[in-house]
Amino acid sequence: MIKQMTMHLTRNNDNDGIQVMAKVELNHLHQEQTFELNNNFLIKELKINDETIDYEITKAVEIPFRTLCQRIHFKTDYDFNAFTVSYQGPVDGWYNEISDNYIGLNIYSAWYPMINAFEVYDKTVYLHNFQEYEVIKAVEEDHLVYRSLDFDANIIAIKNWFTKKFEYTGSNFNLYINPTEGNEEELSEQIKTTYENVLQYLKDQLGLPFEQSLNFDLVICNNPLHDGGYFRKNLIVLIKASSDPISFSRFLAHELGHNWATGADVMSFEDWLNESIAEAIAVSYLKFTYGQETYEKYMKKVEKYALESPAIRTPDNSRPEGVHFKGVYLFHLASKEFGEDIIVAFIKIFVDLKEKNTANFLTAICSKLGKEVHDFISVGLTN
Ligand SMILES: [Zn+2]
Repeated sequence: MIKQMTMHLTRNNDNDGIQVMAKVELNHLHQEQTFELNNNFLIKELKINDETIDYEITKAVEIPFRTLCQRIHFKTDYDFNAFTVSYQGPVDGWYNEISDNYIGLNIYSAWYPMINAFEVYDKTVYLHNFQEYEVIKAVEEDHLVYRSLDFDANIIAIKNWFTKKFEYTGSNFNLYINPTEGNEEELSEQIKTTYENVLQYLKDQLGLPFEQSLNFDLVICNNPLHDGGYFRKNLIVLIKASSDPISFSRFLAHELGHNWATGADVMSFEDWLNESIAEAIAVSYLKFTYGQETYEKYMKKVEKYALESPAIRTPDNSRPEGVHFKGVYLFHLASKEFGEDIIVAFIKIFVDLKEKNTANFLTAICSKLGKEVHDFISVGLTN
């Protein structure tokens, strides 16, 4: 268990890589430790209390969701609860990049020590040599600093991008677009309207609980090196805003939906809950905004993928394939059987769960919607 991590991140002047000094503070005393880092990095030093420590490296280790890593292991004959590691090199990985106008560093590149995957703890990153950049979610204190209580230390630094910040009562929506086509002003208005419509739906129609202040950043990379997009708390990063308003609405509703569709274990079969509920939010929005026909048309597509994908409940509890489609398709089938309101009922049940897992979800379905619905979903997970 990690107590906190403090990183000093320095950008190389010619953008050929980064230099990092990371101090890892642990909750308990240890006499040995293992962690992973991006396979490209050259480790300069590992220290405990200013004393240099020997370590072993295993190169080219594969860990879930990360690019190729190296595994570092060290042992001591005394107790320690903190260590510092310094390293440097180029990065690679999904949405990781160091270029002149965009620096993206996140968990997928393992640019900082990986110990327990997706553990949530305090992370502080001091940013050096970033003067020319705007760093999303960073603040200027004595120093430019990024803090995260989320599972990821996610640095997004941009230069000369199209930026537009919309302010609402008690909340903000910030849009960052890597300019390519010169239509960013127009695009930003469309995105803003979609954003407002989706939020209004979530609030007024679904009645989802809103935090006092929502500070939402949407980053559009326009970079063909990556694909799709990803969600973090109050942040969405994606390649392109689709020019088709229906598919962009669905996508944004899915990603914004993750604000509530979150909390189940992402490393196992339980991740079906996060993805299926986010997708359920998206299709409910689609139906509400564009009508039954659009919904049915999208569901035809979903059906095709769902029928090709294996069962949601995997024999070894691993994360299932094709889960976005499979789960929402199951909800869709349930709505044919038990009435269309049932999809919204599933969303609300999940959001209200204290501990988000399948067993609790099924128990709550049983008590709120009855045994028949419970059995339908329970059996559906294995088909
Ligand atoms: Zn998702």
